[in-house]
Amino acid sequence: MSKVALITGASRGIGRSIALELARSGISVAINYNSSYEKAKELLYEIKKFNENVNIYKADVSNEIEVSEMVHKIESDLGEIDILVNNAGISQIGLFTDMTSRERDRMIGVNLIGAMNVTKAVLPSMIYYKSGNIINISSMWGEVGASCEVVYSASKAGLIGFTKALAKEVAPSGIRVNCISPGVIDTDMNSELTASDIEELIDGIPLKRIGTPNDIAKAVGWLISDSAEYITGVVLSVNGGMVI
Ligand code: NAP
Repeated sequence: MSKVALITGASRGIGRSIALELARSGISVAINYNSSYEKAKELLYEIKKFNENVNIYKADVSNEIEVSEMVHKIESDLGEIDILVNNAGISQIGLFTDMTSRERDRMIGVNLIGAMNVTKAVLPSMIYYKSGNIINISSMWGEVGASCEVVYSASKAGLIGFTKALAKEVAPSGIRVNCISPGVIDTDMNSELTASDIEELIDGIPLKRIGTPNDIAKAVGWLISDSAEYITGVVLSVNGGMVI
């Protein structure tokens, strides 16, 4: 039986690459999406060309009921979830004082509570089987903070604390919990950056390029592998040296 992975926010960007990477290594993949049904379907057909064990699942990760229904459906379609990648996230640029409380709550609800909702839904089976891998996708801004992305930074810092505490709590059950902290990655999330913004950013990146979704997917593939079997509770920075 192949392992089963749930990747949240896998319709686009980093999550899409992670789904492809895990599916290529023979893992059964549950593609979660919220609004991008067509893109999720496109990815489903792309993966089906080489791995039949894949399906798409709609759920807003901030909604505990939708998450619980999604996890039950995945368990009956593909089997118990061995690997969870909490990747779904939203960002918003602007002054903290201009952000409405509704926008703030949505950001924390998706980026932080969302990861907690999905983790809570998959943990009982991982604990039962005494095995599992959870990867939380944070951000370098969660490590060092970004001006004009204050609530986003707080949500991502929260994910780092969540990772470390949960890693301690569930290690006795054979479950590893780690965090990846990407730098600037070429996805829709950065679509507002102009060519000159990107050039300026590259100036500040020691490895002299922005990251690709595949850079993050490779790091996930390694962290969930047996090569990393003694690693839990870490924050793995994948940022070309932008934040050290
Ligand atoms: P993206 O291209 O904007 O994709 C975001 C993904 O999250 C989409 O698949 C979207 O699904 C999903 N999503 C958003 N809200 C959701 C919700 N409520 N429930 C379920 N899924 C939801 O962003 P990305 O760059 O790939 O980012 C992926 C993760 O990496 C995020 O957590 C982000 O904070 C983090 N990150 C990104 C960068 C970067 O430079 N790109 C840097 C550091 C960290 P739908 O379209 O189907 O709604």
